[in-house]
Amino acid sequence: MLSTSADLACQRCINPVCGSTFAVDQTLTACPDCGSLLDIAYEWDRLPVPDSLSFFESRWSNRRNPLDYSGVWRFRDLLPFAPESQIVTIGEGQTILQPSTTVGNYVGLNAGSLFLQYEGLNPSGSFKDNGMTAASTHARMVGAKIAACASTGNTSASLAIYASTTGLFRVVVFVGSGKIAYGKLSQALDYNALTLQVLGDFDDALARVQEVAGDRGIYLCNSVNPFRLEGQKSIMFRVLESLNWEVPDWIVVPGGNLGNSSAFGKAFTELRDLGLIDRIPRLAVINAEGANTLYQLYEERGVRWNGGSPDDAIIDQFFADMDAEQRRANTLASAIEINRPVNLKKCLRALEACDGIVRQVSDQEILDAKAQVGAGGFGCEPASAASVAGARLLRREGVIAPSDRVVCILTGHQLKDPDATVAYHSGDKALFDKKLAANGVKNAPFGNQPVVVENDLQKIIEALEAN
Ligand SMILES: *Cc1c(COP(=O)(O)O)cnc(C)c1O
Ligand SMILES: [Zn+2]
Repeated sequence: MLSTSADLACQRCINPVCGSTFAVDQTLTACPDCGSLLDIAYEWDRLPVPDSLSFFESRWSNRRNPLDYSGVWRFRDLLPFAPESQIVTIGEGQTILQPSTTVGNYVGLNAGSLFLQYEGLNPSGSFKDNGMTAASTHARMVGAKIAACASTGNTSASLAIYASTTGLFRVVVFVGSGKIAYGKLSQALDYNALTLQVLGDFDDALARVQEVAGDRGIYLCNSVNPFRLEGQKSIMFRVLESLNWEVPDWIVVPGGNLGNSSAFGKAFTELRDLGLIDRIPRLAVINAEGANTLYQLYEERGVRWNGGSPDDAIIDQFFADMDAEQRRANTLASAIEINRPVNLKKCLRALEACDGIVRQVSDQEILDAKAQVGAGGFGCEPASAASVAGARLLRREGVIAPSDRVVCILTGHQLKDPDATVAYHSGDKALFDKKLAANGVKNAPFGNQPVVVENDLQKIIEALEAN
């Protein structure tokens, strides 16, 4: 049996000029020496790493052990920062990689080439649970009594479910007063989290929660938390597992705070360095047009990781202009309505490792893609569909070939944001105008309107025959 040891893991500053390291039992959200983000690093050569990914299949037969049941912790040898006795799990990561003909046709790929990774099937309905199980584990390791996060909705739902199911700590969530989807807000309230609705947007809420966490020893669970990203690596492990450990050509993921894309890059880099895969897939990160900081910096201004020295002058100028012009993020894809992505530099590193590319898509493209996902499977929330809209764009551009194997990450469940779905499909013009038109959505080509029918058998039969 492989074991884990917290002694062989540390927190390490991602800035190669600094590179300071800190013990994993410290609670940090940035490098105390230079302010950069932190990674979890491992002494792999002193850890018992399996020599083949198929090792992990042996855990399928041991599902009564919660650690082997978890879609995150059955890969615990690849995120060995915690003693097994400290691991917090609620059965996250039972997700599926589903081939989709409907969506493949829409994207423009050959039959059998498009796969949807349904992370909405997690306990709180989004991929965030992959990270929160790891952050909760670390919170337990350091004895945290209160955990907090700022959230566009799903992070708070996830943190709240871990607190309510385990009773390990109290939770305070900071939500902005912009477009929080009701499905998500309802979760934080139902799971009994103290919910502070900050009169500002997500970027404001995040700034405030970071101040509070620094001042009062509250454990911060936003994606600046490097332990969260360790858990999110497992999304890629499961994708590989579903493909019989074959590496696909493309991973396409929506970009908000850029935690997922960063985690994916780290996962593939580590797997390659460990000799467990022989090549790395390309990564496409998709922004919404109304929240396109990464697109602007990477594609328009050419900012690169550059061996750990990205051009800070360009980045700083970009944010200074944003503030001077009072530009605020604005998209119906509320989960990626973020203008100051905290993991920007880690994402730049991931883009370098994965020969990555960034695109932006409109809210119209997002909602159309979402309707195609729904018509062809389990459905998703708007932000998730940015991945499919982005894959379609890259296919049209010829960047993705029709024969490429493409995995789109569906980050959140369809039921998270019923308002957007109903406004798109219902055919109710007033609702459409109120909810969607202001964001540039002009029509609903894949709308599936309810058919109104009189309460009369004959009329119902006529309606069935006519439709
Ligand atoms: C959090 C979230 C995102 C954005 O992910 P990042 O890691 O912040 O880039 C996208 N979609 C959904 C549904 C989310 O909850
Ligand atoms: Zn540092």
